Amino acid sequence: SKLNQNLSTFLESGIYRFEDSNFVFIDPVRVLNQSYTRFGVSPSSYYSRFFESSDTTQQQSSNSRKRKRKEKKPYTLNERERAADRRHQEAKPFLLKACESLRRATDLLEVISKLRDGSDSGSSSSKSIGSGSSSSTVEHSFIELGRVWQAPLYEITLKFHPSNDRNEAGGSPTTQSCERVHPVFNNLIVNETSEDLEAEFMNTRYILPQESSFYVLLINVFAFYIMLKSDLGQIHNLIPAENDRGFNLIVVDPPWENGSAHQKLKYPTLPNKYFLSLPIKKLSHTEGAIVALWVTNREKLRCFVEEELFPTWGVKYMTTFYWLKVNADSSLISDLDLFHHRPYECVILGQCHGEVVDSDNMSKIKTVPDNQVIISVPGDYSRKPPIGGLLKEYISGHGPTRCLELFAREMVSGWVSWGNEPLHFQDSQYFDDC
Ligand code: SAM
Repeated sequence: SKLNQNLSTFLESGIYRFEDSNFVFIDPVRVLNQSYTRFGVSPSSYYSRFFESSDTTQQQSSNSRKRKRKEKKPYTLNERERAADRRHQEAKPFLLKACESLRRATDLLEVISKLRDGSDSGSSSSKSIGSGSSSSTVEHSFIELGRVWQAPLYEITLKFHPSNDRNEAGGSPTTQSCERVHPVFNNLIVNETSEDLEAEFMNTRYILPQESSFYVLLINVFAFYIMLKSDLGQIHNLIPAENDRGFNLIVVDPPWENGSAHQKLKYPTLPNKYFLSLPIKKLSHTEGAIVALWVTNREKLRCFVEEELFPTWGVKYMTTFYWLKVNADSSLISDLDLFHHRPYECVILGQCHGEVVDSDNMSKIKTVPDNQVIISVPGDYSRKPPIGGLLKEYISGHGPTRCLELFAREMVSGWVSWGNEPLHFQDSQYFDDC
């Protein structure tokens, strides 16, 4: 039946489309595993938070009840809070509808409750489940490493598999494996092969998906200075020389400053004004680009994006996507109406015309329907679900879609990942033993 077909498509692709709606449920592990030929992201390391024992879940919900009680405001909302509430009230009907669709998909619910066990999570090597690689237990902080004076000297070793390494003439595959050494910081490192590669950096193994690249930005006081004072940040190294080779899809998840002091983030944040100088237009393809920007629910930030950031970038607002976060038992991670702890986040979509404005060239971007909801069980703190594949559907035309993620912490096949820690989730400890 049709229902079963949706489920089998989900088991293959990690994407479940609910009938007659703009709602999807995704399993990030299955989606990410589309990128790999030899390795597989470990479900137990991905789902580190919302598959806890029922005790902890109860604890969580009692905490949120407490929070709710505390948040009940005896006074009327101020103007900004009212504006935030208006946005919320607009979204609420279809967010509730999406919950309802999920609740009715009983075949899917059963699979969701077992996502963490990962029996066949689309990984090409899902032999053992659980611990991830045992080769490294120490996680490197690229943020820390990038701060020391020796940073420009650090090197990463890419290990080419015998079968995927072509010889100089581009002819037959060589039989011996070989290694290539590259400076790790401020350097675009490419796995141009059609197989995953292993890379070694400071005794830690990283997995690089087929046809992917990464750029680790050196963050130091000087880099801060140039990003703020001019538009000459290191991002300019990614601007294509030929103007028909820009990116068609740019996902940006900036390190926004967080209003609430109690929420400890694991990375440095930047004041809003820094993001104004990102040269989004120059990075965009002449045939146009979709820009997808992750935002928090703070009203002040939403206004900044609409009134300052998008106009400065040269990006025209298209629509907003909602990421709805659920527990393994498919309940929302918090009450929908909790003011400061909404169980959803937003991605604002816009389009950029690129440097050459030509109406014919805009044809590459299709119309994106409104009110789309992406449901998933969240991974690590502030880790976003991989929505690149869903967005690619809105880019048509010939040739492969060129994709860029700014402030990335992971790599995806076919994408350039840029940030100060794009190798973070590529550490072999996040992969099943292989
Ligand atoms: N999308 C990512 C994910 O799903 O895992 C999360 C991105 S997180 C919101 C923002 C990232 O920006 C963090 O990795 C942070 O370390 C990085 N970052 C902070 N300051 C930065 C800077 N000045 N330049 C580049 N990246 C920076």
